[in-house]
Amino acid sequence: METVCDEKKLKVIFLPFLSTSHIIPIVDIARLFAMHDDVDVTIITSHHPSSCRVVPRFHQSRFVSWSFHQDPHADAAANLGIPRLMFLGGSYLSHSAQHSLKKYAPHHLEMTRLQKKKSYGSLFDTFYDLEGTYQEHYKTVTGTKTWSLGPVSLWVNQDASDKAGRGYAKEEGWLKWLKSKPEKSVLYVSFGSMSKFPSSQLVEIAQALEESGHSFMWVVKNRDEGDDRFLEEFEKRVKASNKGYLIWGWAPQLLILENSAIGGLVTHCGWNTIMEGVTAGLPMATWPLFAEQFFNEKPVVDVLKIGVAVGAKEWRPWNDFGKEVVKKEDIGKAIALLMGSGEESAEMRRKAVVLATAAKTAIQVGGSSHTNMLGLIQELKSLRFEGNCLP
Ligand code: UDP
Repeated sequence: METVCDEKKLKVIFLPFLSTSHIIPIVDIARLFAMHDDVDVTIITSHHPSSCRVVPRFHQSRFVSWSFHQDPHADAAANLGIPRLMFLGGSYLSHSAQHSLKKYAPHHLEMTRLQKKKSYGSLFDTFYDLEGTYQEHYKTVTGTKTWSLGPVSLWVNQDASDKAGRGYAKEEGWLKWLKSKPEKSVLYVSFGSMSKFPSSQLVEIAQALEESGHSFMWVVKNRDEGDDRFLEEFEKRVKASNKGYLIWGWAPQLLILENSAIGGLVTHCGWNTIMEGVTAGLPMATWPLFAEQFFNEKPVVDVLKIGVAVGAKEWRPWNDFGKEVVKKEDIGKAIALLMGSGEESAEMRRKAVVLATAAKTAIQVGGSSHTNMLGLIQELKSLRFEGNCLP
């Protein structure tokens, strides 16, 4: 993201990394900027389907759509002295950990310094009450400027059409089904936009869900013939018992999570989903798979205590099926605790509700993220485009 300062208007250009889960929060942040009359926003994107899924929701500003290449633009901005802000998806905890790993591996030190020199600061989709301690820690160890603006999705997606715009809500069967369920009785199970599982893992998940006794909504993305047949049989059975609802492909996740029938979620710990779960006040069963997700699990389970781990241990590349198979007994234990009626479960739910209230407060006038956003715009406007925008 690059900013050009001007006496009257701040012009902000967004260059998102082209994957669904990067574009989603970047477009939300662009919309945050565009809420201000004195800010002019442009998003540079491509015709790739993952961009098309989220960008149509953005009305207030301009899109430039072309064959995309980010690095030369970032370099050009640096050469011209235009301040460049990086949006860092993920938590402060995960970025602090990654910073330490790079810093203490000597061959990475050079690269880190170079990146920092080119950036004015970083934006995070998080908020002070969620991980203020790590925010302070990150600022201290990296010596960089950061702004927490989250939860950005809660901030900009205030009405149902915004939320549905994220998710191709073509048929409303899922909604009808959820409406037939009592409050907080349904478990939502999703592993983000690109996770893959081997068939043996799908079988364990299916059995754990069926045997849990709880109602569930499971977003399935596998398109392998063998898996499809097994899942279709499973779908027929759970439809007949009215216990489960499968969503094939893309789910309108924001709308689902805020439905009062949802009582908890099973997540791969993608940061966007964690923020959306926190916003909805839901406890989570955590099942990290790739990228920084094992770091993201920690604050949820150990610090905020709004989650229970299924016990996944194997990190894998994002496009890999992985070898580890988490057994149905372990999945079942986590679900039982998440959806249970004991004191530990109730405490997790209470904490999740308190955090959701803090999330709403953060984006209101006077709240920490709201104040950060105003401060950021003022700071960028106060810089003059004379080659002195970079520190
Ligand atoms: N998402 C959705 N429907 C789906 C899968 C994902 O709306 O079927 C959205 C979800 O709400 C979140 C994003 O896509 O905003 C996924 O980002 P996250 O960081 O959780 O996981 P990733 O896809 O990067 O693994």
